[in-house]
Amino acid sequence: MENDKFESVVGNSFYGEIEENRVFPYPAFSAEQSEMAKEFINAFDKLAATIDYAKMDEEAKIPEEVYQGLAELGLYGMGIPEEYGGLNLDYSLYCRVFAQVCQWDGSLAVMLGGHQAIGLKALLLEGTDEQKSKWLPRLASGECLAAFCLTEPGSGSDAYSIKTKATKNDDGTYTIKGQKLWITNGGRADFYTMFCKTDHEKNGKKVEKITAFIVEKGMEGLSFGKKEDKMGIRASETRSVYLDNVKVPAENILGAEGKGFKLAMNILNDGRLSLGAGCAGGMKTLMKMATMHAKNRRQFDRPIAEFGLIQEKLAKMAANIYTTESMVYMTSGNMCRGMQDYYLESALCKVYGSEALWECVDMGLQIAAGNGYMKEYPYERLMRDSRINLIFEGTNEILRAFVALSGLKGPSESLAELGKISDVSTALKDPIKSLGVLTNFAKKRLSKMIGGNMITKHHPEFNEMASKLSGQFSDFALQAENALLKYKAEIIENELPLKRIANMAMELYASLSIISRTTSILNDDNIPQEKKDYCLKLGQFSLRESYAKFKKNLKEMNKNMDSTIKSLSDDIVKNEGYGLDIIDF
Ligand SMILES: Cc1cc2nc3c(=O)[nH]c(=O)nc-3n(C[C@H](O)[C@H](O)[C@H](O)COP(=O)(O)OP(=O)(O)OC[C@H]3O[C@@H](n4cnc5c(N)ncnc54)[C@H](O)[C@@H]3O)c2cc1C
Repeated sequence: MENDKFESVVGNSFYGEIEENRVFPYPAFSAEQSEMAKEFINAFDKLAATIDYAKMDEEAKIPEEVYQGLAELGLYGMGIPEEYGGLNLDYSLYCRVFAQVCQWDGSLAVMLGGHQAIGLKALLLEGTDEQKSKWLPRLASGECLAAFCLTEPGSGSDAYSIKTKATKNDDGTYTIKGQKLWITNGGRADFYTMFCKTDHEKNGKKVEKITAFIVEKGMEGLSFGKKEDKMGIRASETRSVYLDNVKVPAENILGAEGKGFKLAMNILNDGRLSLGAGCAGGMKTLMKMATMHAKNRRQFDRPIAEFGLIQEKLAKMAANIYTTESMVYMTSGNMCRGMQDYYLESALCKVYGSEALWECVDMGLQIAAGNGYMKEYPYERLMRDSRINLIFEGTNEILRAFVALSGLKGPSESLAELGKISDVSTALKDPIKSLGVLTNFAKKRLSKMIGGNMITKHHPEFNEMASKLSGQFSDFALQAENALLKYKAEIIENELPLKRIANMAMELYASLSIISRTTSILNDDNIPQEKKDYCLKLGQFSLRESYAKFKKNLKEMNKNMDSTIKSLSDDIVKNEGYGLDIIDF
């Protein structure tokens, strides 16, 4: 550790550095946290068991008594400080309670997440005391819902390109004109965090930046589209929001003027972690149903759970849950321990969790087979509900690019400095000679090359895997460096190597989290041996899966068909599709 700053574990992996002190011991729930979590979970389960989710899905509506029941449990204010009437749960507790909601239903989770993970987050992060006093108590009690309004018809992933404009009037107020699209809780919410373009001056020139405003339901000129008829999470309300010259007072500005884009990105960075936690909740439900089906369904005179290809699916589903949970609660625990730089971790938890859930849906449905395909059973609803997780709060494509480019930023800056030496690679081969110009990056590389970078705090059961993993960190850093040297600034345009870099970073973080969590379990005298044995098997299997994925990406860094893929895709676009008919070709 260079200093006391709690740096990103994933960020440092781009230097090949393993932050052992940050990942061991695995952050455990304290006795008090466990008790609180269990209390909330029990209380929520009681309410949740009374809800008809199939009906909610069919009618595309959350009943009023459910909104009310959630309010009585305090679930609208999970992250809001107690002084404003919230529960003030820490990150780990928040994630665990949110996962429980997802275990029951995706629509409820999206409504609650849209409200507090993103809808009211700007107020929490940047609100003035007056703004907080005015809104937080009502938002915490569930009297008001919140919504986060960034997306527009012409602006999805490219969020900076929004067109909604807030023009400053002579009296200091702002007039907002524009349209927002697919807004969760749109129409139902009273509090809208609205991201708008505003005019600014830079070096004597007029430039546009983004500013966040509170727009309140009932303001003149604010209206809503019809409820979107969605594939999944149908009971959550999604609408367009129209702003036809909505006049907003200056005191409704959230945070600094012109700093809204950074604020929006920070909010999404936060929200992604709970989304990952939620995915683990969804997987548990699927796994429970699929396991019971595998146990009870008999074919060829045996329960199908006795067939190898069903057993493999059950083991993979469990590994997906174990890995997602290990990553999420490693991240939330570190956030509770003071890690501020957690954006890469939370993005990876979202990507990993959403894809793990999607795989689980597929495997669970395959185990249930015909039953899984029938609306009578919840598999198809869970499949429809799960799909959104790969799309919103940053698509998984965008997040992979984000993780890779953000992670590479540190090494690239350092490499540019090292470029003062005529041959960068020679300098790195003989770093002692170059110590005078060695930067952060090279120092970290040096410590790695002289072998100070091994995992040591793992349980002996993981000796072999830990040693392999140490090597993977070195391989990864070298690949990151090679990619920078090969592509230079063009790396931004080369998304396939970026994807592989993000995938490798994800598997390294997954593996570290699994080893750390399982080590803590194995070292805990209070855990029954039977559970330890189960966790050891889960840990070993999850690690093997992760290792295989890492290796595949590593290999493809140098042996790939990237240029063929690009050329094929160009042909496909030119053909406007597949372009072949078996009759002719
Ligand atoms: C049910 C639902 C609820 C939502 N709730 C909200 C909400 O509350 N608030 C809000 O502001 N928004 C919300 N959204 C919008 C959501 O965040 C966007 O759909 C998402 O950001 C993607 O934008 P897009 O759909 O326009 O896709 P596009 O940005 O058009 O992307 C299309 C495809 O191209 C890929 N792509 C785009 N750019 C790149 C690139 N540079 N490299 C590689 N691939 C790329 C994408 O990954 C995707 O696969 C919601 C959406 C849905 C469906």
